[in-house]
Amino acid sequence: TAVINKIAAGEIIHRPASAVKELIENSLDAEAKKISITVKEGGVKALQVQDTGNGIRKEDLSIVCKRFTTSKLREFEDLRRIRTFGFRGEALASISHVSHLSITTRTRTEQCAYKAFYCDGHLTSPQPGLSVEPVPFIGPYQIFLKVEDLFYNMDTRRKTLKSSNEEYLKIHTVVCNYSINFPQVSFTLKKFGEAAADYRTPADSTSRSNIKAIYGQKVEAELLEIEQLEESLELGIVGLISNANFSLKRGVFVLFINGRLLECPAIRKAIDNVYSAHLPKHAHSFCYLSLTMNPANVDVNVHPTKNEVHFLHANRIIEVVQETTRARLLAESS
Ligand code: ADP
Ligand code: MG
Repeated sequence: TAVINKIAAGEIIHRPASAVKELIENSLDAEAKKISITVKEGGVKALQVQDTGNGIRKEDLSIVCKRFTTSKLREFEDLRRIRTFGFRGEALASISHVSHLSITTRTRTEQCAYKAFYCDGHLTSPQPGLSVEPVPFIGPYQIFLKVEDLFYNMDTRRKTLKSSNEEYLKIHTVVCNYSINFPQVSFTLKKFGEAAADYRTPADSTSRSNIKAIYGQKVEAELLEIEQLEESLELGIVGLISNANFSLKRGVFVLFINGRLLECPAIRKAIDNVYSAHLPKHAHSFCYLSLTMNPANVDVNVHPTKNEVHFLHANRIIEVVQETTRARLLAESS
């Protein structure tokens, strides 16, 4: 089963950026207002995530890396009403199968912090008889997760990774995208050993100001706001999209559904079609959309990576998203 677990883990954690995505979602689930990420060698050598969320209780440290352990899903019924990001309890387990993972954490009611090491889904002892170590924990954070030597036991996977720089850029994109959708949270991304952050957002910023920080004022100045409620479909659409007279060097498409960064080729294609009717050939648009749907209608449980989503009334929803975008573009260009 060790092999099976490792393969399953590799399905969820494709590359350093997918580990970062899972860890950010956990921090957001834990209601962190500040999330800080530090990366060494594209995240393969080390990935550190610190957050100001609720932390993990000492007695839970022994189980958080077991597969299907989640504090977010108490009954099967809940699968119909998934509001938080995590619900499968597989991310930490997977990470512990393909890396060296340690967690140092303290809940707000505890006096000291505890540090735990994990391997293959199990708590491992740093010393005989001592599996969770009390440690001093100074600073504003409630948790400190360290992922080292990612894919140390998966030679072929390691070989398919891109250069450190490219892997770092993918992490950078994930962090930027989350900062756009969660502007109330402060994000920091930096490389190991460097004092200055590569990317940092203040708490309580706005989606617009974070887009400006990432893409520049030239892009930000061309953005149109979208805000639409479609009650019959239990669908909310908010977003920022470039206008029909503006083109970027490279297209940007960022989609969140119920607070989760997802890929949905059908929605992307629908938006591309809207723009291609208005933009000259080879022009590119910027599109950030955040959709809210009744969680009962969204099936995020199709694939373990949870990156692709299925939802009820998909055709109607895609049509409404497309029409909303089109109407916004036309209202501005007339
Ligand atoms: P899931 O998110 O699906 O519950 P994970 O494997 O991602 O599963 O996480 C397992 C559990 O570990 C979570 O349910 C949560 O209780 C705990 N946990 C993980 N990350 C954090 C964090 N940053 N802060 C507090 N608790 C966390
Ligand atoms: Mg999770």
